[in-house]
Amino acid sequence: MDSKKQHGFDTRAIHYGFAPDERSGTFTVPIHMASAYTFKSSEYARRLFTLEEEGNIYTRMQNPTTNILEERLASLEGGIGAVAASSGNAAEFMTFLTLASSGDNIISSRDIYGGSVNLFGKTMARTGISCTFVDGDDPENFARATNERTKAYFFETVGNPTCNITDIEAVAKIAREKGIPVIVDNTLTTPYLFRPKDFGANIIIHSTTKFLSAHGTIIGGITVDCGNFIWKDNPRFPDFNQPDSNYNNIIYADIPDNKAFIVKLRAQILRDIGACQSPFNAWLTLCGMETLSLRMERHCQNAKDAAEFLLKHPAVEKVNFPAIPGQPHHQLAMKYFPKGIGGVLSFDLKGGREAGAKFIDSLQLFSHVANLGDTKSLATHPASSTHSQLSLEQLEAIRIGPGTVRLSLGLEDIEDLIADLEQALTCSKLGMRN
Ligand SMILES: *Cc1c(COP(=O)(O)O)cnc(C)c1O
Repeated sequence: MDSKKQHGFDTRAIHYGFAPDERSGTFTVPIHMASAYTFKSSEYARRLFTLEEEGNIYTRMQNPTTNILEERLASLEGGIGAVAASSGNAAEFMTFLTLASSGDNIISSRDIYGGSVNLFGKTMARTGISCTFVDGDDPENFARATNERTKAYFFETVGNPTCNITDIEAVAKIAREKGIPVIVDNTLTTPYLFRPKDFGANIIIHSTTKFLSAHGTIIGGITVDCGNFIWKDNPRFPDFNQPDSNYNNIIYADIPDNKAFIVKLRAQILRDIGACQSPFNAWLTLCGMETLSLRMERHCQNAKDAAEFLLKHPAVEKVNFPAIPGQPHHQLAMKYFPKGIGGVLSFDLKGGREAGAKFIDSLQLFSHVANLGDTKSLATHPASSTHSQLSLEQLEAIRIGPGTVRLSLGLEDIEDLIADLEQALTCSKLGMRN
């Protein structure tokens, strides 16, 4: 279905990468529950293993259902290929392993998902790949932290949970001058609201657990290669320009169509680490993606209405939602996310930690769940959940206060959601007086 590439976003989100099976006529994507695939001949097997031909060997490396998800999301992001992973964290880790070795470093914005902070700062450090965290609000901080062993810049489109926005074009300009790939986590905005490639990103990561799959049913991740980074003769990436003894002495930078990164990620790192995505999870994500644009529009509208309500409420100290005029990062939000910044916002309660806990416990329609991007509205208190493994110092550095609450607005009626916020805010204030 290559012709679908020319079609609009929604047409591709629904059709791309799949044609109804000719023999059975099955109209929906089949779930290929298979560990392995028959080789037509020894010669065919040889060609698959040497990457002379593309085809299925073993589900740790590729699966026909998962491949449809990979092709469809790559198309929506404007990329040349993608590799699905067992989780967003796995996608991040395998991406960095593809680029960096012991002694190398990556530079990441400090305002990122708490689980990524642990992975980059602690667990990945054990492989010898270090991470320098910088304040992404000033793009020059990426340049200042760079040295000759820097292999990637990383940030989230809309930071979780403070909704700060890194100026992607400014970071991409610095990265281009230094020959460093820009990796953007597009989980909160999805390709419907934002295409990082159009502003200079080279690699895009998603936790498919969130808006893409939509229903809070799976854990998954994916890495998309935009195909716009120059690996050939790049002095920062000798591994891409020398024969790889770990894979038939292949020279990744010589692979046609600039597919060096995505081929190395699959052929070497996914093969060895094995954090592949289950075809069942890929199938559920494909089901979710069919309605992505419709859902994102409602998520954005509900979040904006909720933010406007919270801004006016006397128990609320401040609201982090740059889509609203007067908020920090509003200029960047207008420039990069004219359709909206998604369904996630955070706010600080005047009553601090106690009010935060009382508020969360008083919610009736919002659920207290450590997730986001669900059709159902969710609330968390980061200091006691998603970010609880960070020290108070680290929390302060990423601007999370004791009374910070994160909301992920679902698709319910906004009147019901605001009524729930209102009664929980009232309870949180009563709690303070008691
Ligand atoms: C959830 C999340 C992740 C991690 O994804 P998992 O699927 O939970 O491993 C990474 N980045 C962002 C922005 C997230 O919200």
